[in-house]
Amino acid sequence: MINGEHTHDWNYDEFGPDVWSEKYPTCGGQLQSPINILTACTVHKNFTSFIFASGYNEQHNFTLTNNGHTIIGTFNNEPKLSAFRVTGGDLNGIFEFVNFHLHWGENHKSGSEHEVNGNQYPGEIHFVYRNSITNQTAVLGIFMKSVFFNNETENYTTHSINEDTRAEWQRFFNIAQNLEEEDDSAVMNLNFQLLMGGNLRDFWRYEGSLTTPPCTEGIIWTIFKEPIIFVESEFKIFRQNIYFEDYRRPQPLYTRAIYRNFHNETLSTVPDYNCCQGKAINTVPNELKSSSKTFFHSTYLIFFFVFIISLKNK
Ligand SMILES: [Zn+2]
Repeated sequence: MINGEHTHDWNYDEFGPDVWSEKYPTCGGQLQSPINILTACTVHKNFTSFIFASGYNEQHNFTLTNNGHTIIGTFNNEPKLSAFRVTGGDLNGIFEFVNFHLHWGENHKSGSEHEVNGNQYPGEIHFVYRNSITNQTAVLGIFMKSVFFNNETENYTTHSINEDTRAEWQRFFNIAQNLEEEDDSAVMNLNFQLLMGGNLRDFWRYEGSLTTPPCTEGIIWTIFKEPIIFVESEFKIFRQNIYFEDYRRPQPLYTRAIYRNFHNETLSTVPDYNCCQGKAINTVPNELKSSSKTFFHSTYLIFFFVFIISLKNK
């Protein structure tokens, strides 16, 4: 139960992520999200650029709702939904906007669902899209990073804070932090281009799942490398007013590959080969895999015949 009114059969507490798979078996699958992105183990691949439709650079009204798990933003103007289409990024076809929502934690050291080299950000924003023809879902994830102003000489520029993006999120938080009870909602206009920030070039890509029950798999994940930066004191009120924790911890990668669309991995230059098993499996071209298999099989056969011959000779 959250806020006493509704009964939920999952949450982040008594019915938390550890036991989701008891009611939702897919949550125990092998293509689950989020994951820890070990940057040294990612594979470079060329992707086409994302193309965002005209509505991204306009103010539009969104309904923000406390749905008992998060604050979720939906666009209600059905005829204008096409203004929020996304194409490109190697996605197949046209993706329509479904919702955006946030994940955050109890303090500035936790909150994001995806991790980068084992580090959590204080928050993560998910923009959810669906292709209505193929029914495929794609999520664009952006990390939220908060910074402390340590002394009076520090300002937005010191911390590379995009002031327009910060101001738009501040307007969002000013409204969202009042939606304390489940089903509380408010309408406000937002500019998506400002919300998403100016660093939508470099990203990681992998196939995963919804991070909440029913944990449906086959979701195309895009995680942008550059976080949106906030001032800690401005994010804190929102964090304190609404639930403390609504994030799932990283799930095993199994044999999946994580691709990156940028050439040089600057976050971690030293590959940790002990943890790059997924990459080792996924970067070996299939021809090479089968030819090396054939090689091993023939080596075994030769040893076997030599063994038989040596037995006969005795
Ligand atoms: Zn989410």
